[in-house]
Amino acid sequence: MKHEIPVIVMEPVKGGTLANLRSDVGDILHEANPGTSFASWAIRYSASLDGIITVLSGMSDTDQLDDNVSYMERFQPLDSGERTVIEKAVEALKSVELIGCTACKYCVNDCPQNIGIPSIFELVNEFRVYRDLAYAKRRYGNTMKESGKASDCIACGSCESHCPQKLEIIRLLNEAALQLE
Ligand code: SF4
Ligand code: SF4
Repeated sequence: MKHEIPVIVMEPVKGGTLANLRSDVGDILHEANPGTSFASWAIRYSASLDGIITVLSGMSDTDQLDDNVSYMERFQPLDSGERTVIEKAVEALKSVELIGCTACKYCVNDCPQNIGIPSIFELVNEFRVYRDLAYAKRRYGNTMKESGKASDCIACGSCESHCPQKLEIIRLLNEAALQLE
C-alpha cells in the first residue's frame, strides 16, 4: 500500500448487481464453490485487498445478513485458486459486446428532445453485462427524470451527425426503449 492510508470499501456488491450474475458468469463461481453466494465472492474480494479496514455491504433482509456473517465472522482472504476463479468470471463479464459510447456528449446539445443519450447507453451496457432487468429499469426510471427518454426520439438524425464514434444512435435508442421502458 503506497500511502499507508486505511481504506473503507462501499458498495462491494455494486448495488446488488454482482449478487445476480448472468448464468454463464454465475456458473463459473458456482462450479468452483456451489455452497457460497455470488455476493460472498464480491465481498471477500474487497476484504482481501491491501489496506482495507472495513467493507460496508448494504443488506435488505436477514438472509443477506446471515449470508454475510457466515463468511465474514471468521474471515479468510481469497486464496490463489479463488483469485483465478474470479479472473475467469471477470473475463466472461468483459466478453459482452458493449455500445462504444465514450460519453463525450457531443450528441446531446442539439437533440430537440433533450434525450440523455450517453446515460442511456451506459445503462444499456450495464444491463448487457449484468442482465439484472429490474435494477436496470429502476436506474433508467431515475436517470430519465432529468431528460428525455429513449422512446422520445423523433429520429431527426442530428445526434448521429455529431457522434465521433459513428454510433447508430437512433437504432440503439430504439433497442433501449424496448428493453428498459
Ligand atoms: S435522432 Fe433522436 S436522439 Fe438523435 S438528436 Fe434527434 S431526437 Fe435526439
Ligand atoms: S456523441 Fe457518440 S460517443 Fe459521444 S456521447 Fe454521444 S453517442 Fe456517445
